[in-house]
This record gives sequence, C-alpha cells and structure tokens, in this order.
Amino acid sequence: MDDKAQHRIHSQVCPVCGSSSLLPFLSCTDYLTTKEVFEICKCKQCGFALTQDFPSEDMIAPYYEAPAYISHTDTHKGIVNSLYHLARKMALKSKSKLVTHYASQKSGMLLDIGSGTGYFLNRMKQLKWIVTGIEKSESARAYAKQKFNMDCQKSEYLYDIPAKTKDVITMWHVLEHLEHLNEVMDRLHTILKDDGIAIIALPNKDSFDAAYYKEFWAAYDVPRHLWHFSPSDFLHLADKHNFQLIDIKPMYLDAFYISMLSEQSKGSFMASICGLVKGGIFFLRTLANKKRSSSLIYILKKKQ
Ligand SMILES: [Zn+2]
Repeated sequence: MDDKAQHRIHSQVCPVCGSSSLLPFLSCTDYLTTKEVFEICKCKQCGFALTQDFPSEDMIAPYYEAPAYISHTDTHKGIVNSLYHLARKMALKSKSKLVTHYASQKSGMLLDIGSGTGYFLNRMKQLKWIVTGIEKSESARAYAKQKFNMDCQKSEYLYDIPAKTKDVITMWHVLEHLEHLNEVMDRLHTILKDDGIAIIALPNKDSFDAAYYKEFWAAYDVPRHLWHFSPSDFLHLADKHNFQLIDIKPMYLDAFYISMLSEQSKGSFMASICGLVKGGIFFLRTLANKKRSSSLIYILKKKQ
C-alpha cells in the first residue's frame, strides 16, 4: 500500500473554480475490481465533486481489468449484458443522428476521444465522415482494427493534432476518466475549427438516480471516474475554457443500466429486475425534468 500511496493524485484545489475548500462528500467502494474505498470530495465554493487520492495514469490500469467491464467486450451473457448491447445499438443510432443534426456540414473531420472498440467511428465512417479515434486501451484498439479495420491512436496523439482541424469532437463518457481535465478542455478548444462542435456525454451527479442511490450510485464508479459533474459544474468548466452551450440532451437509457448496476452494488435481491423497475421510474420522472437525467450530452461550440 505504501508504494501505491506514492502514485495517488491528491487534489488540493477544485479544478473547476480553484477553491481550496474541498469537503468530504461520500465514501464509495470500487465494486468492479478491488473493493477499495475512495472518498469523493465536494467543492464548498462551486459544488463540483472529485474522487480524492485516485491512482495516477501509470497505476490505474489494474482498476480497469475486470471481466465485468463490458464496454470492451462482446459477450452476451446475462440480462445486464444483453440489455447493454441492445442499448448500445440504440445509442449508436442516436449518437450519429446527434452529430448530423448539430454539425455545420453533412460530413467532415471527426475525432472521437475514447473510441473504445470503434463501433461509433465505424458508423460515422459509413456516413462519409473522415474519422480518427483515440483509445488508451491496447486491446480495444486491436479489436477496432480486427473488426472494422480501424487504426485508432494512443492517448498522446491528442497533443499531435494540428490546431483548428476538427469539425466535430466527441467524447462519450470519457472526460470523467481523464486525469488532466483542464489540459484536455484547452486542447479541445485548440484543435476544434472555429465553427466546429464538441459533443461531450457525462454522468449527472444531480440525477434522480444519483440522489436515490447515494454512495451506491454506479456512475460514481471510483476510482475510474475522477470527476463528478452536475450540469452547472460542467457549464462552469466549459465557460472557463471558452466554450458556450448549444444544447443539452438527456441519455434516457442510462437510468436503467446504472440502476441495475447500483442495485447489484447494494446486494439487492433480484437486482437486475429491481434496477429495471426503478430505472423506469427515474426515466419517467426525467421526461418532465431532463436536467435530472442519469447522463447528459452537452453540445458545445467555441465562444464567438
Ligand atoms: Zn469549485
């Protein structure tokens, strides 16, 4: 543990507003891999929350090595996985629609950061976009190559991209995983064309499901999720990096998936069914209050 302690990132100040008043908020368990407990702190000034003492980039890989981390697999076992794959199909369709709707042109240069196994990029390629993916997992890159003949880049590539060259940048549930939050936001602004758009999907810590499950909320996902945003937190960060909001869209299906995982973490009887039912209730409540959706998609452009 002593060796591990040297590789922990301790935040002294809030990365969104710079305040040094970080107060204990929740103690969350890594249910996926190690069962270690991590503290989530909340900024007294702006309300942003972060995972305190998370493992640094060079030490975090083991925390992703879980058979249950299904976003990188194609297994169809169990109700959670089956629904996940069905949801992924529906999500792919709505993601590509979203790009087509908000982009200033019908095709162009698209960068997907955290491109995973390449399904979204492949779909955009079929729609005539010139696509580039960045993915830190070697196995996910190999999968994208084998399945779609897609060459995705390593993380460092983000800093090799020339300025103002991308029409669309997408990050689907990725920013909350990245250690260098402010640097990445700056980088997005640099590489985006002046009329480009950034589409960023994030879990919503102000969601109905987060309020209900508290420390069991699966989208805290410590220590893989480092940053925990509400809509106002993220808009504060975006504004700081010279972005303005075009639109916010709810990701309705996430309430089901996150509720099922949260029930599993709680050790509930018939966790999947229980999660589906409660997810359904959260989904219905979200219809009347979209900003309390389990996850939100922010569509941003550069401030003019
Ligand atoms: Zn703050």
